[in-house]
Parts: sequence; structure tokens; C-alpha cells
Amino acid sequence: MERKAGMASPVERFVCPGKGNGLRATARIRRGQLVTSAEPLGCCVSNKRTREVCHHCFTRQETLLRCSQCKMARYCNTACQKQAWSGHKRECKCLRSLLPRRPTDSVRLAARLIFALLSPPKSTSSELFTLEEHESHLNSMSEQKKQGLAQLASMLELYVQQEASDLAQEMTSALPPSCQDPLSLIAKVTCNCFTISDGELQEVGVGLYPSLSLLNHDCRPNCVMVFEGTRLQLRAVRDIGPKEELTISYIETLSLTEERQRQLEEQYHFVCRCQRCDSKKEEGLMLSGEEEKWRQLKEALPRLEGLKTESNWQVLLESCSSLLSAAGGDVPDENLYRLRVTDMALDAAVHQGQWEEALRYGMKTLPAYRLYYPDPHPVHGVQLMRVGKLQHYMEHVEDALDTFKEAFIIMKITHGEDHPLTTDLKIKMEECRQEIDTQLSCR
Ligand SMILES: [Zn+2]
Ligand SMILES: [Zn+2]
Ligand SMILES: [Zn+2]
Repeated sequence: MERKAGMASPVERFVCPGKGNGLRATARIRRGQLVTSAEPLGCCVSNKRTREVCHHCFTRQETLLRCSQCKMARYCNTACQKQAWSGHKRECKCLRSLLPRRPTDSVRLAARLIFALLSPPKSTSSELFTLEEHESHLNSMSEQKKQGLAQLASMLELYVQQEASDLAQEMTSALPPSCQDPLSLIAKVTCNCFTISDGELQEVGVGLYPSLSLLNHDCRPNCVMVFEGTRLQLRAVRDIGPKEELTISYIETLSLTEERQRQLEEQYHFVCRCQRCDSKKEEGLMLSGEEEKWRQLKEALPRLEGLKTESNWQVLLESCSSLLSAAGGDVPDENLYRLRVTDMALDAAVHQGQWEEALRYGMKTLPAYRLYYPDPHPVHGVQLMRVGKLQHYMEHVEDALDTFKEAFIIMKITHGEDHPLTTDLKIKMEECRQEIDTQLSCR
């Protein structure tokens, strides 16, 4: 079916006017089609997830075995640990030497690439050549950003010195010219790496996928990326014609034009001129309601985010609840700030085990999600699945089945029929059907 070996991807590199390099379709691509999939050239678990995620297969586990030497790397079992060892060996030594300090994600990722290059035979070097060139971006970066990168570069040198004694010389002999000093390697890594997310779309790690780093951004993209472990799958969410450019969104698309543009400039150093940015079509809806009232929601968001980061669920739930009632009917559900607060209330209620309240908040978000995700989007599918599970738990079985069905329509396109999450969803739907049948036959 989908992963037929040797099946060529219907994509090619091309020069896109005004954007530099890009990827485009060589043939017609259907909506829902797996365009291509790739394993990372290098990847690592995010620092903030090191305790929850296996450093080999990137699955989240309740209990993990800890590497007895660096005490940082964790694995599902000895099988994962064994398979990870060749990639972890050098890193382990460096991690130990740096204790109690921890290198950042991009420093660890860059070091992993260097170590891979120091252990031939590997095709790493030639693959690195295919990474998108971001020299021009380096020039257009703010001084602050450049300083940040310089700091990372010196940390990288410090970090790898245990294993690469003469880093400068070894990098020159092993790396392509554009990566031959720590600063340009770090710049390349930070500009090209993708966030790896799990089934719940939580960040678990970062990875480099050179063949896909050419994908340009669009605020209403025709492709989405989903992960299965560390394997990246690129899927079409609209029909794409031959020679048409393939795009993804580098950032969360559910936000105002001004917010998206600021984030793209800060993180990726370009000004987005996509159709959606030009038309600003949804802005009115996203800012609907009484400004005086929604401004209070907007201004509360940083504090709420803080509570969420601290996992202070009880206070978060109380704060969201009182903010939402204060805004009342003057701020409709499709207002973007109301939606964000409602989403946080949903999170908090789930963590507090307040299922009925969670369901109420979840239901409130769905009309806005339908409105703001015109194309199938993983975030929308996962949100529907969440609400469906709450409905199922509250024994609203028929509603749950309807919600799961709606999720399935999206996820068979964004995740594909074979993705573990879609399989989960199918099992849930089957459970609901059986419960409905049983109820009917008991009447
Ligand atoms: Zn594992
Ligand atoms: Zn270790
Ligand atoms: Zn845009």
C-alpha cells in the first residue's frame, strides 16, 4: 500500500521565485496521499521531555530505564538502549563531563551530527549538503539572535571536546564547507530542524530531515507533517497539481496575521507574503465581540501560560473559569482569545479529572476549530478525538460516535489509515458501535 519500497516520491527541488529553493510536485498528488516519509539524519529528545520519552524510539512511557552513566538518556527497555548505544556512546561521555550543566537541544543535535561524521562510513556528510542554505538568513539576523547563536556555538565546542579533541580540524575534514565552523553548523541546525511531536501533538524532540528542509512555509499550506516515532510523514491535505509548490506551515496556523508574521520573522527571518496573509480574511471573526472584554482575556494569556507550564492546574482552571464568565456573552466562542482560554480550561479540567467541565469546554471549542481549520489539520483531528473520548467516558455514546466519525474524516487524510492514532480511533468507534448495539438489544 503506502510504503511500497522503492516507490519514488512525486517531488523535486526547484527554484521558487522570491523564496529561493523549494519542493514541488512532479505529478498530481491526491488529498490524503502520503507524499513522502523520512527518518531523521539526526534527532534528540527535547530537554523538557527527557524524563518521559524513550531516547531511542521517542515513545512516551510511564517508567523508563535510565542510562547509569550520564543519568540523562532514558529507554523503554534494554532493547531500545542497545540499539541506541552506537549513537549515544560519545554523547554519553560528553554529557557526563558537562554535568551538572545540560546542553541545549540544538547543541545536542549538532553534536550528534558531528559524532555521526566522525564514525564513517556514513552518508551524513553528503546529506548535510542538501540542507537548505540559510547564509542570507544569517546576515539578516538581529545582533541579539547572532549573539545567541555564538553562545550556542561555544557551548557546542565545550560540549564535544571530550570526544573531538581538535574540533576545528575534524570538522574541516568531515563536514561540507558551509558547516565547517561551530557557528555555521549551529545556525544550520537551528534553522533547519523540525519539532518532533507525539500522538497528542506534544513536542517530544527535534530532528533534522534534510530532504524536507526545502519545504517553504505557507499560512494555509497544502501539506502537513505528522510523526510516527521519529519517522516524519508528509501528507497532502489538498489536491496538488503537477509543478505546484508543496508547502507546510512552520508555525501554529490558528493565529492572527500579525502574530504569525512576527513569529516567522523572529524564528525564521522572513516576511510571509502568502495569500492568507494578504487577504486577512478571518481577522474580523477572530477579533469579534466587545474589545474591552476580550482584551482582558488576551492580557491574561501570559499568566495562564505560566500556570500551565508549572502544571498548576487547579489555579489555572479557576482563573480560566472566572475570566470566561466575566467575558460572558459579549465575547463569542469564535473569538481567538476566548478560544485560547477555553482550550486551557479544557486542559486544566482534564488534569483535574473534572470530566463534565472538561467536556463542556471541549464542546465550546469545536465550532471555532471547524471555522479556522478549513483544510484537514492534525490539531483539529486530535481535538475532536479528545472531545469524543470525554463524551464516551460520560456515556454519551451516540454523541461520541458522531465526534469520532468527524475526527476520522480528518485523520485518514492527516495521519493516514495505518497510523497508530488512526488505529486507536477505529477501535474507539468500534467500541461505541458495540455499546449502542447492546443498548438497543436490551430495550
Ligand atoms: Zn524505546
Ligand atoms: Zn548515557
Ligand atoms: Zn502567511
